[in-house]
Amino acid sequence: AIPLVAQISTSIGARVGLLVRDRAALEEARRIQVVVFDKTGTLTQGRQGVVEIGAHNDRDDELLSLAAAAESRSEHPIARAIVAAASERGLSVVRAESMESLAGRGVTARVGERTVAVLSPGALSARSVSVDDVLAAGAAAVQSLGHTVVWVTVDDQVAGYLALADVIRPEAREAVSRLRARGVRVAMVTGDAREVADAVAAEVGIDEVLAEVLPEDKAATIRELQKGGTRVAMVGDGVNDAPALAQADIGIAIGAGTDVAIESAGIVLASDDPRGVDDVLTLSTATYRKMA
Ligand code: ADP
Ligand code: MG
Repeated sequence: AIPLVAQISTSIGARVGLLVRDRAALEEARRIQVVVFDKTGTLTQGRQGVVEIGAHNDRDDELLSLAAAAESRSEHPIARAIVAAASERGLSVVRAESMESLAGRGVTARVGERTVAVLSPGALSARSVSVDDVLAAGAAAVQSLGHTVVWVTVDDQVAGYLALADVIRPEAREAVSRLRARGVRVAMVTGDAREVADAVAAEVGIDEVLAEVLPEDKAATIRELQKGGTRVAMVGDGVNDAPALAQADIGIAIGAGTDVAIESAGIVLASDDPRGVDDVLTLSTATYRKMA
């Protein structure tokens, strides 16, 4: 039978917008020492929009339509934003003939006679192609504002960049300060570039930032933090967060997140409000106070 105290806590959970999928996670929550937040879709709304186009020779429309063609087969939020921006401008978007998705790095696709890649700054520098100084400066400036930059190459030549803006969740800052106030260490992990990660972290009050972490390395990052028995909670929304959610002592998924993230988490924030993490810890302490 389910103990009465657990039944009560689950109904309190429901009232504050928490879905407890795994009761053991709720019990473990009161012992959490570090909370790691994913950035995109967790601390931010994950609804990106293209806010700047930096094209070689000012060929903005050509850059955007080639990027959209390359991204037309991807489900990633960045891909959707690029395709939406192209159609808002009334550009015709041809569908890529073939596309290869490079997890956490971008995509590469065959568009007509050309090979078009949309790449993270890290993936671009790994390819050691030369970047025009003016474009590089433009990209650096927009990244320091906290906007994500992706680079577009056509047949391995840099054609320009696209900058995408996301909206930081209004409750994120309070979510962090509440956890701090109870003595919990707070960190952020993201696949995005260092400058963007730092700008968002500063905005929400996080100073421990793990940036440019590839999807396959997110779980290892959690394992590293767990060394010496430190109890770590991971909060995320994406497919790429699932292994880290499973690795953490407790995994907490954003309700609007992907199914894979929700299935890997013990607790779901149904209201998408990151302050719910503090509610989880409070509820856990209140529920299990009298137990060993
Ligand atoms: P996060 O950890 O912030 O949730 P991801 O691991 O999904 O982000 O992506 C990390 C980075 O990889 C993005 O900031 C972007 O530069 C690049 N990226 C991933 N998928 C795509 C895509 N479809 N198109 C362009 N860039 C992508
Ligand atoms: Mg995310």
